Amino acid sequence: VRGMWIIPGFVQAHLHLCQTLLRNGPEGLELMPWLEQHVWPAEAAHEAETLVVSARLGLAECLSAGVTAVLDMGTVRHADALFRTAARAGLRYTGGNVLMDDPVTTPVNLRATAAEGLAETERLRSDWHGRERGRLRVAVQPRFAVACTDGLLREAAEYAREHELTIHTHASESKEECQLVAKRTGLSNIRYLAEVGLLTPRTCVAHAIHTDESDWSELAGRQTSVAHCPSSNLRLGSGVCPVPELRRAGVVVALGSDGAACNNSLDPFREMRMAASLPGTRLIPETLSAFEVLRMMTWDGARALGLPGAEGLVPGAPADFAILDSEAGWSLPVEWAEEPYGAIVYSMGRDNVAFTVVDGVVRYRAKDPTVGGFKPRPDEIRAAVASLKSRM
Ligand SMILES: [Zn+2]
Repeated sequence: VRGMWIIPGFVQAHLHLCQTLLRNGPEGLELMPWLEQHVWPAEAAHEAETLVVSARLGLAECLSAGVTAVLDMGTVRHADALFRTAARAGLRYTGGNVLMDDPVTTPVNLRATAAEGLAETERLRSDWHGRERGRLRVAVQPRFAVACTDGLLREAAEYAREHELTIHTHASESKEECQLVAKRTGLSNIRYLAEVGLLTPRTCVAHAIHTDESDWSELAGRQTSVAHCPSSNLRLGSGVCPVPELRRAGVVVALGSDGAACNNSLDPFREMRMAASLPGTRLIPETLSAFEVLRMMTWDGARALGLPGAEGLVPGAPADFAILDSEAGWSLPVEWAEEPYGAIVYSMGRDNVAFTVVDGVVRYRAKDPTVGGFKPRPDEIRAAVASLKSRM
């Protein structure tokens, strides 16, 4: 069909589906107060029913934007609701319960001991890991060093090694967080995660903003991936991730939107555009080409998640792709460049996604903006938010 372009499915390498219902929260807060005042109280108020609405809203948004795989930092409880919803959505979902146990830094109603947390991860592994033709996968997810005791981090690393599971955590997102870790351990955040055994080739670390040369070589040496979340980092005033430096050191850098509470949108086109533009603001010689950021949002994402199968649109690879309609929306003309990458990254958006196909099945078509009824109706969203607020 004329004007239709096929691309590998986008991979959201860092999301919080439990936060989609927290979209459009307070402005002007940095990471720690934003967690303590907005995110953690609302996460603690989630029941399975509200979590399902939050996940439906987030996953419908992802499918309508050409996303075929996500790595989701869930919340402490009700992870079954996330797996059930992801199974219905039909995309590739890697997630699990969040581990946080530090009695000083975390709220009492949103923590579990290391033993409870890892027992829950093990239960999820036996119930969900490998289900839906392998599309559902369980990850080990200590939230970040600040929220976890040293014992939990070490046990989580050991458990993940034993079962060869993906490890997903946050690190070096804000300066305050880095200072807390340095005060407690005497090490940089990244060095500390290496020390407790959490930096592995199966690990995806979100952010890695406040990092230096020795952190980059630590990450590269352990083949740990980074999920860069530019719009979240800008909205929370966290800083700018040194992506060209990380890539030059040999680190695979994927892209993610983070939760909808951090940046108000789960839009891979927005993340690509920002990732491509940010190096230019740092007065460094390196740039990222449109092709490079498209690769970060697709192939490098698949590598960061450790998704099995060949990469890209090749025979034998999983049939995960999006079809873009270059004539929809506002991206014509496309005749000035030999390659399509600049048009995809700089002028296309969700309006251009005609179909999203995961594992050979059409999961979104532009003609049906309800995503097969999967997207919650406005009254369902309002009711779920009212229910959350009544428990906060
Ligand atoms: Zn996050």
